[in-house]
Order: sequence, then C-alpha cells, then structure tokens
Amino acid sequence: MLLGMLGLGIAWLVGLPFRAAAHWWTRRYDQSDLGYLDWIVEDWAILAAEFLSLCLALLIVMGLARWLGERWWLPGAAVFVAIAGLFNFVAPYLDYTSDPLRDKQLLADARRYERELGLSRIPIRVEEVSNDTDQANAYAYGFGPTRRVVFWDTMLQKPFSNGEQRVVLAHELAHHSQRHLPEGLAWFAMFAVPGAWILMRATRRRGGMGAPEAVPLALLVVVVFQLVTTPLANTISRRMEAEADWKALQVTRDPESLERLMVGFSETGLGDPDPPAWAQLLLGTHPSLADRVAMARAWAERRGN
Ligand SMILES: [Zn+2]
Repeated sequence: MLLGMLGLGIAWLVGLPFRAAAHWWTRRYDQSDLGYLDWIVEDWAILAAEFLSLCLALLIVMGLARWLGERWWLPGAAVFVAIAGLFNFVAPYLDYTSDPLRDKQLLADARRYERELGLSRIPIRVEEVSNDTDQANAYAYGFGPTRRVVFWDTMLQKPFSNGEQRVVLAHELAHHSQRHLPEGLAWFAMFAVPGAWILMRATRRRGGMGAPEAVPLALLVVVVFQLVTTPLANTISRRMEAEADWKALQVTRDPESLERLMVGFSETGLGDPDPPAWAQLLLGTHPSLADRVAMARAWAERRGN
C-alpha cells in the first residue's frame, strides 16, 4: 500500500503544475471563482480519496491473488463491478449538498415527462454552485429506488429560458428511462474483465499481484489501460448522450429550445461548438454542440415531413 501511495503521490505531483495552469486558465476566463487556497484544499481532498480507493483496490487484488493465485482476475473483476454498482446505488444517499427543486412549473413538467417516458416518480434536486462558477450543468444518477436528477442552480438562472430548462430536465430523465446507468455499469464490466486479465498477465514476471514488487508495474498497467480505452468509453458515452437528446426532443417537441440551450452552453461554458476530431475522440463525453444542434434541426425537419 505504501508503494501504491508513493506511485500515486508521484503521479499527483507531476500533474500539479498542469492542474494549477488549468485552474488559472478557468479563473482567467471566468469559468471558476474558486480561490487558489480552496482549490488546493479540494485537490488534496481528491488525492486523499484516491489514496483510500487505491488502498482498498490493492487490498482486494493482492488478497485475492494470494488466496487464488493467478485465477484472481475473474473474481477480482467481479468485486470491482460490484463496488461500482454499490457506489452508484448509495451515492444519492451521501449527497448533502442539494435541495429539492421548488419550481412548481418545472416539477409539473417533470411529472408529465415521467409519464411519457414510462418512469415512476424521480426526485428532482438543485445543487448550489453559483458562488463558484457560472457554468451550467445537470446530471442523473442512482439506481432503481435511488434514482435522481440534479440541476446546478446556474441552470435555473439566466441566460437559460424555461424551454431550455425543460429540455435539460427531459434529457436527464431520459438517461433514467433508457437505463443508461445500469448500461454504463455493464460496459464497465466489459472493460474490467479483460483489464484484470491483462493486469494478471503483465505482472506475472514480477511474481504476480500477490507480490509487492508488482505494485508499481500494476499502477502503470492500469493507467495505460485507462488511457487506451478512453476513446472507446467516450464513444459509448456520446451514443448515450445523443439518445438522451433524441428522447428529450420526443417529449418536449421543442427543437428550438434544444438549439438555444446549446448556444447558451457555448456562452456560459465557452465550449468549442465544433472541436477538432482528435479532441472529441479523447475528451468528448458528449456530442459536440454543433452535432447536437444538427440533431435538433434533423428532428424538426423529420416532424415537418
Ligand atoms: Zn446527459
């Protein structure tokens, strides 16, 4: 575990100047009002959380490897998928930063969309971020009975209109109706199983995952595996996001608002509406703003026919 933390600590230190430059950049362009002291505290908190999860992961993998030898990889992958599933399930219970949405009109829209999407009642909540940023966002998370939709309070303010807020609401509810979260977990399993096998094979010559000597190599293998699979994971994510947009168009029947929403996002988040293909492949978890506008127009055209 000490070796693991040392490896992670070095990686964190190497990344520090880049994260500091990125934070300077977001402050310079008004994307964040977070002071440097708060930012460092937050960065430390993230590192501490990473230390803890790394220790837990090493405990599981090394424990299983010493117990089962080289056959640890399949039960090992299963344990990680189970942990990811459990975390997704309980995460909404650990949230103490959001409050229930009070906007009666938007709540009524939520109930209507839930009926159209075949969903039971999903709690809609609001998270206050406007003190730290002008960026707007919303997200869906949780499984089954813990499903939720959370709006950043910036999403409920100018420049976003009621129509645009409804599109966001429908998009997030669609993530639940299309079961994107369980599907994401299934995809995680599809990556975790071969990933664990590769880890087992790669660490063989260092004595396998039961030996501490294998830990630094294991960290490298995990990082490289994540890097190599990122374009594929982003492609899957973009497909789900596009589906949620399409569903949102079907229930709101309001392509104009979806289009204006994307323009609003480019204004508040300063996103490049049409980024180069390599950037979209490596970083694009959502379709580009231009692609999303194109879909809204395609939907409008199809309805017109
Ligand atoms: Zn989405």
